[in-house]
Amino acid sequence: MSFTLAIVGRPNVGKSTLFNRLVGKKLALVDDQPGVTRDLREGAARLVDLRFTVIDTAGLEEATDESLQGRMRKLTERAVEHADICLFVIDARVGVTPTDEIFADILRKKNAHVILAANKAEGKAGDAGALEAWSLGLGEPIRLSAEHGEGMDDLYLTLRPLADAFDEQARIDAPETDVDVVEGEDEDSHKPTKAKPLQIAVIGRPNAGKSTLINKILGEDRLLTGPEAGITRDAISVGTEFMGTPVRIFDTAGMRKKARISDKLEKMSVADGLRAVRFAEVVVVLLDVEIPFEQQDLRIADYAETEGRAVVVAANKWDLEEDKPHKLNQLREGFERLLPQLRGAPLVTVSAKTGKGLDRLHAAILKAHDVWNRRVTTARLNQWLGAMVESHPPPAPGGRRIKLRYMTQVKTRPPNFVVMCSRPDDLPDSYSRYLVNGLRESFDMPGTPIRMTFRGQS
Ligand code: GDP
Ligand code: GDP
Repeated sequence: MSFTLAIVGRPNVGKSTLFNRLVGKKLALVDDQPGVTRDLREGAARLVDLRFTVIDTAGLEEATDESLQGRMRKLTERAVEHADICLFVIDARVGVTPTDEIFADILRKKNAHVILAANKAEGKAGDAGALEAWSLGLGEPIRLSAEHGEGMDDLYLTLRPLADAFDEQARIDAPETDVDVVEGEDEDSHKPTKAKPLQIAVIGRPNAGKSTLINKILGEDRLLTGPEAGITRDAISVGTEFMGTPVRIFDTAGMRKKARISDKLEKMSVADGLRAVRFAEVVVVLLDVEIPFEQQDLRIADYAETEGRAVVVAANKWDLEEDKPHKLNQLREGFERLLPQLRGAPLVTVSAKTGKGLDRLHAAILKAHDVWNRRVTTARLNQWLGAMVESHPPPAPGGRRIKLRYMTQVKTRPPNFVVMCSRPDDLPDSYSRYLVNGLRESFDMPGTPIRMTFRGQS
């Protein structure tokens, strides 16, 4: 069973119907079976070739002393805790209700991985509601009809890559307890729950100094267990602290060196690094200041951007530089010209060898992570959009001006915006760049890719 999916939403949107469809008629008679908790119903679901556990939070209507809202909140929170992914269902025929908004809020606060579904979307009656669902700021709604089995292919296509990620994550997580030797070492007894570590990957071409940097972060005398303790060849991670911040570093040649694995494995290949990016929240692209911006660096940077990770560029071996101000200018110029896709990413100079600049690297990582997770309210965005359009209106191809109507942030990690407009296909890229760059400046968003999609209203 690769992952757990919780179906959440207010009563009557079709959660049970969907649960039954995923679990299959025969297995659906699980009402009386004890689930993960008394209130949650659990079943083994299949969707094409996916096998997963599904949790249903239906049954909220039952009379209890508690208010429906309180009960709903509790159940949902519990479901979220048990699940890897939440499928948040609204009724496309009714549209977004205040109760739906409360749910969206809970899910956002819980930082859950949410898939939004607009159910009862068969026929035309669900069109307006499905469109309205964008306003919840939870991404593109999948249009479903649980009753008629429509939209299950879209649900599958959405779940498929997540399932792969969870599979892989499970493989990575397995050896963690072995690798993570300092767990609990200097633990404060009054603080049993630790903050979730920030997931970092350090990537760069061979000899950029990745191992040196990582070893510096891990600390000189840190001894790691060898491969026999369960370090897999493909992807390994280690938990540590970086200037007081709990971090988890993915795939490090440094760890291998310390573990004295054979020479063949000693160097992290670029491919290893790229794989590590998938698990990271923040990617540190490490350049060798002596030979920055080589073809390989550009490719690596490109990959980090495409994967939508928060990015910090670190120019290493800064200790070797004699004329630092001159070199810094050169770096800045090269960065703008050769890595335009990383525009907005911070550039930090460091020396992995001496440890100089690591405090600035640390600060840049925290900031990039923060921005990557940031959500801008729809109200602020639309106010901003109005001002942007006023000072520089979109073009009017064929004499009719393109109208930008409404804007909302549909996703974080990285920030993802949708702008509703007339004739999205006619809007030039330059205008989209104008808006993205404006967003970065107005909302102070360095260090993260920003996605912006333009959609027409049908
Ligand atoms: P829950 O309270 O969220 O679990 O909702 P149910 O699954 O009990 O469904 C509530 C009502 O909506 C039932 O009458 C279902 O038959 C109906 N329903 C569920 N899915 C659909 C759908 O896709 N289309 C339509 N038109 N009705 C649906
Ligand atoms: P990796 O292949 O990216 O893991 O690179 P290594 O960490 O193995 O470093 C490659 C070489 O660069 C080694 O000889 C390091 O000692 C050297 N090196 C790494 N960081 C620095 C630095 O900040 N300053 C200097 N002068 N040398 C460094």
